[in-house]
Amino acid sequence: MFFNFTYLLFALPGMLLAAWAQYKVTSAYRRASQIPCQQGFTGAEAANHMLNAYGVPGLGIEPIAGEMTDHYDPQSKTLRLSEGVYGSNSLAAVGIAAHEAGHALQDAQRYPLLVTRGALVPVANIAGNLSWFIILAGMVLLAAGAILGKAVLLAGVGLFSVTVLFQLVNLPVEFDASRRARVALVEQGIVSPAEDQEVKKVLDAAALTYLAGTLTGILTLLYYLYESGLLGGRDE
Ligand SMILES: [Zn+2]
Repeated sequence: MFFNFTYLLFALPGMLLAAWAQYKVTSAYRRASQIPCQQGFTGAEAANHMLNAYGVPGLGIEPIAGEMTDHYDPQSKTLRLSEGVYGSNSLAAVGIAAHEAGHALQDAQRYPLLVTRGALVPVANIAGNLSWFIILAGMVLLAAGAILGKAVLLAGVGLFSVTVLFQLVNLPVEFDASRRARVALVEQGIVSPAEDQEVKKVLDAAALTYLAGTLTGILTLLYYLYESGLLGGRDE
């Protein structure tokens, strides 16, 4: 029911872009993690330097297990960098750390889209978990010819659209964090303009994965609307 041919048609562009983005992010990361930053900064040092320079001194920066687990936690005002980023002085490490520091700067400056994203997180989490169940129930009811089916399906689709809204808000937040990172790294002399080009490749590839996720979300939403007959594609 979820993985039928129609769904595949709808979801294919998103899946292809996601696969391409995954390939790009892996290859860009692998490449840039072999190139040491000439100024010798580690990821943690670059983030710390950047936060001090832009008015957020003394923010906690901790290592965290795993790969690509790097994130900024706005609740505890802590930057968590994966072990491969925290202590490494590669351009990949410095770029990723600076991106996460970019989120900390957004938080300190109450960047409106980050505030919106923060408000959407709990709602989007609940909606994301519930929507699958309700959509599935709606499709089963619809297939069984129950009158309620369409209403249940639409309620599920409405919930799912909240998660897509979250992705749409998240996208410019991610782009902005990468933009801040690259400006800061060059401005602070942590990387040279030539090194910045390697950092750009890593951060652009990461942005592409967010873009692919958002596209997949939008296409899945369109598929649900099609299934529910709202796009006029399917009879009751
Ligand atoms: Zn980010």
